[in-house]
Amino acid sequence: MAFESVNPATGQSLKTFSAWDKGTIEEALQQVQESRFVWATRPLSERCRLLGVVARQLRERKEDLARVITLEMGKLVTEARAEIEKCAWVCEYYAEQAPRFLADEVVESDAGRSYVALQPLGTVLAIMPWNFPFWQVFRFCAPALVAGNTALLKHASNVPQCALAIEQTLLEAGFPHGVFRTLLVTSAQAAEVIADPRVQGVTLTGSEAAGRKVAECAGQHLKKTVLELGGADPFIVLADADLEQTVPVAVQSRFVNGGQSCIAAKRFIVMEKVADEFVARFQTSLEALRPGDPLDEQTTLAPLARLDLREELHRQVKASIEQGAVAVTGCHPLAGPGAYYAPSILDRVQPGMPAFEEELFGPVAAIIRVADEVEAVALANASRYGLGGSVWSRDVPRAEALALQLQCGAAFVNGLVKSDPRLPFGGVKCSGYGRELSWHGMREFVNQKTVWIK
Ligand code: NAP
Repeated sequence: MAFESVNPATGQSLKTFSAWDKGTIEEALQQVQESRFVWATRPLSERCRLLGVVARQLRERKEDLARVITLEMGKLVTEARAEIEKCAWVCEYYAEQAPRFLADEVVESDAGRSYVALQPLGTVLAIMPWNFPFWQVFRFCAPALVAGNTALLKHASNVPQCALAIEQTLLEAGFPHGVFRTLLVTSAQAAEVIADPRVQGVTLTGSEAAGRKVAECAGQHLKKTVLELGGADPFIVLADADLEQTVPVAVQSRFVNGGQSCIAAKRFIVMEKVADEFVARFQTSLEALRPGDPLDEQTTLAPLARLDLREELHRQVKASIEQGAVAVTGCHPLAGPGAYYAPSILDRVQPGMPAFEEELFGPVAAIIRVADEVEAVALANASRYGLGGSVWSRDVPRAEALALQLQCGAAFVNGLVKSDPRLPFGGVKCSGYGRELSWHGMREFVNQKTVWIK
C-alpha cells in the first residue's frame, strides 16, 4: 500500500491506494505523449478559455475541495477555502495575461525580420508537496498548460485524494484527456519518469533533500529543472517598529498552515531594545490560539500533517533547548490521537542550533536577539536558505535599504511575505532556483526560440 490518506486530526485512515505498476505508468506516458502535439497546436485563445472554466469550477466546488484538503493534510478549513480561491485567481490571471506574455518579441537585428517565439517545451513532470496541495500544483500548471505544455503530477504520498481531485477538476473543465495526468507513483518510480525521453522538464517543490536527488537525476538526463525548496525566512524587527501592527503579522506568518509554509517567518531577528516586549506580545497572541478539529470554523490551530513530521519538529526543538535556547511557551506535542503540537516560542536562539540552522516546519517561533542592524543582516544571511525575508520599521527607506541586503528571492517591508500571481516567486542558495508566477514563471517551461528571416 504505497499511498494512504490519514486524517491528521484524528489519526484515522481514510483511504489507501497502490502504487502504479510499470504498465500503467507506460500507458499514461504514452497518452500524454499523444496529447502533447494536439494540445500545443490548439489556439491559445482556446487554452485560455479552458483555464477560465477551471477557475469557475474551482469556485463552484470550493466547499468539497476544501474538505478534501482538510481531511487529508489537516489545515484549517478556512485556510483550505482560501487556497482554492487562490488557485482560481492564478487560473484567471494566466487566462487573461497569457496572450501578452506569450506574444512574439520582435528584436531589431541584421535580419529582414527577427523575433523570439515562445513555444511549449513539451511534457513537464511536477513533483509536489502536501502543504499547499492544490496551490503548489496550480501555480505550476496554470502557466505551463496555457503555454501549450502537457503535465504529469507526482504528488506527495500523503495527499493522493487531492492529486486525483485536481486531475478530475481539469477534466471536468474540458481539458482533453492526457493533457494533465496524475501518476500514483513513489519517489523511487519518479526517477524512471524523469529519465523517460517523453518528459522534457521537471519542477519540484519540496525539501532541499528531495531537490538535490531530483536535480541530480534530471541533470543526468539533461532535463530542465525548477526547484522551489525550503526556507528559514528572517523577520527583522527594528527598534522603531510599530509592535502593535508587527506582532499580529509575525504570528500569522509563523502559524499559518499549522506553521508548515516554506515562506513562513521562521527566524525572528529582534533588536534587544524591544525584544522583551516583542516576545511578551507574541506569547499573549499564541495563548489565544485554539487547537481543535480543523473542520470547525472556530479552531485556530491545526494539527501537523503527519505524526513523523511532529516527531522531527520536537527533535529540533529539544536539541535547540539542550544547546541553550529558552522555551518560553509550548515546545511539546499535545496529547491525543492527532498530530498537534503546542504553539511554541524558543527565545535566545543562536547560530549552531537546529532552530537557527534548519527549517522548523511547524508552530515554533525562534527568537534571535541582536544588538544592531549590522548584526541583524549578518545573521539573516547566515543561513543556507534564501527564500523570503521581511524588515519591520517606521523608517521605510532604512528598512528598504536592509531588505535589499537580504540574500533571498523576495524581501518585504512592513508586510507579510506571500506569493502573488503578479510577482515572481522563488529562492536563492539552498532554497532552489528558477521562478514561478508572473511572466517570469511562464518562461521557465517554454522554448525561447530565435526566428531570423532574411
Ligand atoms: P518532501 O518530503 O521533499 O516531498 C516533496 C515531494 O518530493 C513529494 O512529492 C515527495 O514524494 C517527493 N520526493 C521526495 N524525495 C524524492 C526523490 N528522491 N525523488 C523524487 N521525488 C521525491 O517535502 P514535503 O515534506 O512534502 O514538503 C515540505 C518541504 O517543501 C519544506 O521544506 C518546504 O519548505 C518545502 N516547500 C517549498 C516551497 C517553495 O515554494 N519554495 C513551497 C512549499 C513547500 P513522497 O511524498 O512520495 O516522498
